[in-house]
Amino acid sequence: MTTLEIRDLHVDVADSDSDAEPIHILKGVDLTITSGEKHAIMGPNGSGKSTLSYAIAGHPKYKITSGTVTLDGEDVLAMSVDERARAGIFLAMQYPVEVPGISMSNFLRSAATAVRGEAPKLRHWVKEAREAMNDLDIDPAFGDRSVNEGFSGGEKKRHEVLQLGLLKPKIAILDETDSGLDVDALRIVSEGVNRYADRENGGILLITHYTRILQYIKPDFVHVFVNGRVVESGGPELADELERSGYERFTAAAAK
Ligand code: ADP
Ligand code: MG
Ligand code: MG
Repeated sequence: MTTLEIRDLHVDVADSDSDAEPIHILKGVDLTITSGEKHAIMGPNGSGKSTLSYAIAGHPKYKITSGTVTLDGEDVLAMSVDERARAGIFLAMQYPVEVPGISMSNFLRSAATAVRGEAPKLRHWVKEAREAMNDLDIDPAFGDRSVNEGFSGGEKKRHEVLQLGLLKPKIAILDETDSGLDVDALRIVSEGVNRYADRENGGILLITHYTRILQYIKPDFVHVFVNGRVVESGGPELADELERSGYERFTAAAAK
């Protein structure tokens, strides 16, 4: 069993285009995610949800000013980005990066090598990758294309979930994995996430604006995220309330 524990996390982000003072974005985030649990974070635009995912993954732009993040008691914030991935933390980004000149096959095998500590045997790997692509209805010809280059929004998201299936992290952070997906793609991507959760008993932190994906990926816990903090936590019924009434009750309280 694995536990990711976030305690009173404060994060600043520096705007690279100006000399302005860094902005204080995360203002004391508390969250605990354990293997086999599905957590959904819902919050308005600009509330700091992506900042939270980048801070956990170790993006250099995001400066931790106080608080802790631990994985089974190990200090995640002291780890390099690679060490975090090897420790079992995975981030599917809201805006996946394009890597021209690197094929999907090579990229995935390198990522698997980095995470597993040794290169998967080529013959096994080809089979494993083919099965994982088949699970997600991804055309095998995708393996020869440059990473995310010219991919549609939906194809990028499928690729992220493909990585999830192959890298088998302990804790997966999925930042708006539902954005830009049509209903069929949403179902396929959600099934991929559920398959990972079932097979690997992974812990999931699913960041989303919409309750639609939660009909496919049933969360055990729902957290409302406003103004850089978790302001309320509950069960799936909290998502239903957000669907009915929006964030107003929470934004008003957070502004006080
Ligand atoms: P969310 O994912 O909830 O929409 P973000 O974490 O993306 O929110 O952003 C939170 C706030 O931090 C926003 O006001 C955004 O403009 C600001 N911010 C995030 N990243 C950067 C950055 N790299 N440079 C400047 N401002 C940023
Ligand atoms: Mg957003
Ligand atoms: Mg975001």
